[in-house]
Amino acid sequence: MSTTPFSDAYDDVLDGLSAPGFSTDKPWLDYLARARKLCRIDGFDIGEASLLDELRKTLSKAAAKGSGEAQSLLSFAGEKLSGAGANPTVGVDLAERAGALKVLRHTYLLKRSGAHRVWCVGIPPSFTQWPTQALLGALPAAVAKLSDTTDRFSADDRKHLSNASLTALRWVHKAMMVSGNMKSKKNFEIVARWFADASSSDQDVMDTGALLNAGLKQIAAKLMSGRLIYTDHVIERGTGNFDGVEAFVWGDKLDVVYIENEFFGNRNTLSGPNNWARIVIHELTHRELNTDDHAYEHEGMAPRKIGQAKARTNADSWAWFCVDCGGALTNGQITTALGR
Ligand SMILES: [Zn+2]
Repeated sequence: MSTTPFSDAYDDVLDGLSAPGFSTDKPWLDYLARARKLCRIDGFDIGEASLLDELRKTLSKAAAKGSGEAQSLLSFAGEKLSGAGANPTVGVDLAERAGALKVLRHTYLLKRSGAHRVWCVGIPPSFTQWPTQALLGALPAAVAKLSDTTDRFSADDRKHLSNASLTALRWVHKAMMVSGNMKSKKNFEIVARWFADASSSDQDVMDTGALLNAGLKQIAAKLMSGRLIYTDHVIERGTGNFDGVEAFVWGDKLDVVYIENEFFGNRNTLSGPNNWARIVIHELTHRELNTDDHAYEHEGMAPRKIGQAKARTNADSWAWFCVDCGGALTNGQITTALGR
C-alpha cells in the first residue's frame, strides 16, 4: 500500500504556492496572494474559500474565449508555452506550482449552515497520482491532465456528502442529548440496547453514557470545525485495494476522510442518505476516538455477542447508536441489527 496520503499531497501544494515563478499578471497575482492565505499549514482557511469558485469562473471564462484550462493554469504557474525554445518537459518546480493550482481547481467548500462546513477535494478520475507527481514529465501528458476538468465528486456527490455530514451532525447532537441524560429510562434503554451485555450493571450503562457523551462532543466539534476534508485515495485508484470499501481514515495530520467507490453503493444494511451519514460518524469515531472494527452491523455487533468492552470501542456500535438516536431506524431494523 502506498504511503502518500492527502496530507503529503497538501504539503506539496504548500511548497508549490510558496515557490517563486508564478505569473505576475492580473488576476493571477491577486489569486496567488489569496491562495497562499487559503492554504494554511494546518489546512484550508474558510475565510478565503470564495477564491475557489472565482478561480473556476475565471478558468471557464478563459476557456470560452479559446484559452483552455491547461493553458490558463500553466500561464498562472508562470509557463508561457511560447513554442520555440519552450521546454518540452515539466520539471519539479513547474509541476509543484501547476500541481498546487490543479488541487485548488478541484477543491470545494461544502457549506449548508453556519455550523457545518467541510471541504471536498475531487482530483479528476484520470489521475492515479496526486497532481504534483502526475504533472512531472512530458509536457503534452501534463497538458492533457490539466485539461481534464472532471471532478472526482460530481455536483450531486458533493450535495450528498454535504447532506451526509449535516445529518451526521444532527444525529450526533441528538445522541449527545440521549447520552447526556441517562436518568431518563428511555435514554438509558437506548444506550443499553447497543452497549450492555448480560453482565453489565446499571452503573456500567451510566458510565457508557458518559463515555459516549464525551466522545460525541469531540465528533460534533470536528464536524463544525471547518477542518474536515473529504477526498479519495488517488494513488489507490484502479488497484482494487479498496474494492467494496465505503470510506476510511488514515494517519493523516489533516482531518481527512477518504470517500471510496462503495460509499454511494448499496451493499450495506442501510442505504442512501442514512447510510452516508452513518459512514461519516463511523469514520470520525475511528479518527477522533481510535475506535476499532470489532464487528460491523452485518456481521453481528449486538453487545450480548461481542461484549460490553468491545461494543464501547466498536465504530459501528457508535454509529448505529447515533442513527437510532436520530430516529432514523425502524423497529424492524433495530431488531434485525441486534438479533444477528
Ligand atoms: Zn471502520
